[in-house]
Amino acid sequence: MWATTMSTYEQKEIESKILGYYLDAYDDYSKQAVFDTAKDGFSFLDDIRQLYDEQKPPITPQTSSKQFQSEIDLSRYRKDFPILFTKVNGKNLIWFDNGATTQKPKAVIDALTYFYENENSNIHRGAHTLAARATDAYEEARAITASFINAPSPDNIVFVRGATEGINLVANAFGCTYLKSEDEIIISHLEHHANIVPWQLVCEKTGAKLRVIPVDESGQIILSEFQKLINHRTKFVSITHVSNALGTITPVKEIVQIAHAYGIKVLVDAAQSISHFPVDVTDIDADFLVFSGHKIYAPTGIGALYGKEDALKILPPYQGGGNMIADVTFERTIYQNAPAKFEAGTGNIADSVGLGAALKYVSGIGMENIARYESELLLYAASKLSQIDGVKIIGTALNKASVLSFTLDGFTTDEIGKALNANGIAVRTGHHCAQPILRRFGLESVVRATFAFYNTFYEIDEFISVISNLKR
Ligand code: PMP
Repeated sequence: MWATTMSTYEQKEIESKILGYYLDAYDDYSKQAVFDTAKDGFSFLDDIRQLYDEQKPPITPQTSSKQFQSEIDLSRYRKDFPILFTKVNGKNLIWFDNGATTQKPKAVIDALTYFYENENSNIHRGAHTLAARATDAYEEARAITASFINAPSPDNIVFVRGATEGINLVANAFGCTYLKSEDEIIISHLEHHANIVPWQLVCEKTGAKLRVIPVDESGQIILSEFQKLINHRTKFVSITHVSNALGTITPVKEIVQIAHAYGIKVLVDAAQSISHFPVDVTDIDADFLVFSGHKIYAPTGIGALYGKEDALKILPPYQGGGNMIADVTFERTIYQNAPAKFEAGTGNIADSVGLGAALKYVSGIGMENIARYESELLLYAASKLSQIDGVKIIGTALNKASVLSFTLDGFTTDEIGKALNANGIAVRTGHHCAQPILRRFGLESVVRATFAFYNTFYEIDEFISVISNLKR
């Protein structure tokens, strides 16, 4: 699979440009003459055509090749990330651990500094200027977040610590209110532990049962099996958008459609999709969607739970405290409407501002451009890696985001991780908090490289060279 003749960064740069041209030509028959000329001039174009035909770059349905022009190289944005100029073990840092967390651009770091130097205050309740400034900054971040995922209103966005807290909130508020012992919750075999354990806890409390959609050999959800699992006992579906262990992009729109036909609510875990391609909650039509800010260039400790208006309305509060109340007596409490109803206590005000700055920053680059560039990185890395003897790529679904997991015969994943680290290359090794899906493939541990738009083809060459040398 993914065979290619490409070898160096320079070649790849030229090829990327030609491929961009080719993709446009491919879609636009009127450019045929231009395409033929290019083809005569570059013998590797046949390989690329075959590559593209066999394994279309794993981009989202929203991405059209029309948006992919010669501006494919986004590595010029590297200069915005101070940490990318750090040395590790005497080498330039190569950060391929983006699935665990992403690095932060100056725009985010500056937004935090600006907030603490000019706006810091608790929000909503103060009568003074800084309280108003901080409240405005916090609410602006909510509006930016809503617009980033195409939510109808900022009121659809609840700030949480991250995807884990968002899922726990929904699992507890929905599960403990509406589930009974004969009910069922459906998740998939791909889930991160954060989308398994909260539901198991709810099942323990309510007696409800967890049902699991199987995946095929490529690591894609089998929709026909989902259709067999769903029935009148099903009360909730909670599904990942992108598998953190395999990179599979799941058919969430279809899953939502099927579940809604039964009147069942769906949560989408967008922790691993949010930074890789446009995520549109209105298009997906999920009832809930969660993501963590730190996976999309924002600080840790901040994330978002999106909920449709009616879905948030039927949930009771998750935690009690300040901010979420309209009125309290010792006899009863009247709650605020969402989102305040779910934001008890002092929130992570500064980091929400950081989240807003991060979403503005990536919007400036364009999520479509990021999707296109990263899919090129993934395709390149996968094609090079698969040529190394003894490498097994885990997760070969047609639709994949920037995750490349693998094993290498004769080496433990720990040994591979250490060899890469000695060369300044950060990857993650282990079970990636997704033990069930690794065990589905007979594994306890894999090496995982995850790419971001600030990574380059040159960095992939360095990574491939370390793995190749291990085999010698
Ligand atoms: N879901 C998926 C798919 C993830 O990859 C992660 C983080 N690895 C989470 C949920 C949990 O995210 P967080 O730890 O930021 O809450």
